[in-house]
Amino acid sequence: MSSELVIHGGTVLTMESGTQPIANGAVGIRNGLIAVVGAAAEVLATMPGAPRLDAGGGLILPGFVNAHTHLAMTLLRGFADDLTLREWLEQHIWPAERRLMSAQTVALGTRLAAAESLRAGVTTVCDMYFFGTTVGDVLADIGLRALVSEGILDYPTPAADSPEAALRLSRELLERFRHHPLIRPAVAPHAPYSVSAARLASAAELAEEFEAPLMIHLAETRQEVEQLLRDKGLSPAAYLADLGILSERTIAAHCVHISPDDLALLRELEVGVATNPVSNLKLGSGIAPLPQMLAAGLRVGFGTDGAASNNTLDPLRDAQLASLLYKGVTGDPTVLPARKLIELLTVGGAGVLGLADRIGSLTPGKEADILCLDVNGPHATPLVDPFAHLAYAARASDVRHVVVRGRPLLQDRTLTTIDLDGVLAAARALAAGARPGSH
Ligand SMILES: [Zn+2]
Repeated sequence: MSSELVIHGGTVLTMESGTQPIANGAVGIRNGLIAVVGAAAEVLATMPGAPRLDAGGGLILPGFVNAHTHLAMTLLRGFADDLTLREWLEQHIWPAERRLMSAQTVALGTRLAAAESLRAGVTTVCDMYFFGTTVGDVLADIGLRALVSEGILDYPTPAADSPEAALRLSRELLERFRHHPLIRPAVAPHAPYSVSAARLASAAELAEEFEAPLMIHLAETRQEVEQLLRDKGLSPAAYLADLGILSERTIAAHCVHISPDDLALLRELEVGVATNPVSNLKLGSGIAPLPQMLAAGLRVGFGTDGAASNNTLDPLRDAQLASLLYKGVTGDPTVLPARKLIELLTVGGAGVLGLADRIGSLTPGKEADILCLDVNGPHATPLVDPFAHLAYAARASDVRHVVVRGRPLLQDRTLTTIDLDGVLAAARALAAGARPGSH
């Protein structure tokens, strides 16, 4: 039996290059794939008996891609703020994770993150955390598309008492999800400064064996660059390239302190970049050369990073802030124009994750990952240019429906596969018992 759905009653932005918005358009979905896109009358005539989802006069576009995050860190939202990365990580976050994070709490934090993500129009997340198999199971159950991974560090993690154990868990994760329709397993060595050269090489070999993505933090702070230059005589990007671990399957998060030579190197090796402007600003890490990355021809998408450093999982907010930030610091308001910004949130992010052939645009044959945005609020009226609306006026709370692989996961702002009240209550209860000094 085939399952069908028609999303109609709105302006369709396919995000295919060179296309115009389709006023009063519709998207027909069959068996999780986009079957037809066009004028509503034609689409509805093609699929007369299909169930319908009404966009209520709003915008219909590809779901947003969060190209770098740590989902379960929602449980550490507001836990430690106004600190530098090193102090935040080593004195607050890592000890808290060791105390708090188990398979059970990671499952809870991931559910909370999935709820927040769906409400923000996100249909694909790229997660770097621990207990990756649990994360994959939870997200598969919810129906959210994801890259999932098992964080590898030189130190014990909440899930692995040694780097060897983390590599073993990574292999299990790769084997478990290698053919899953929604969950794509990846390998995740934490960063060049926190994983030894030998283990970085092991991680890269594992990714190679499974042809899996490899995600890593890269050149996030000036301190990291100085340390690598001192210890290895190379920039972080050159060091990783030297080790042979960078490829078109690499997702490099941050790349804040990166030279023109490094950018050329990343371009040559076809590395994808997840830029995280809110997290970088909040931690005082700096401002990534995003316009230069785009000019160099790099694949770039937006990531939120974790909710302990952002403190939300709302990539639209990251994109909107980036647009204003780069216009301001360059003195050039033509930098990151509205349509480009929305491309980075959709097709751009899909490209960074190696999913450009499956998601990112509303193209027949691609998977039906779609969001509908309400445009009836006073802050949204009148609407002239849909791209400018998304870039400068829309809010995550305007997201009305979200469909992943043809399945409505958010309908009229209600989550269909997550018991939100239960998740919120459990997260509050856990936080109340987990504050420093409470036990
Ligand atoms: Zn991160």
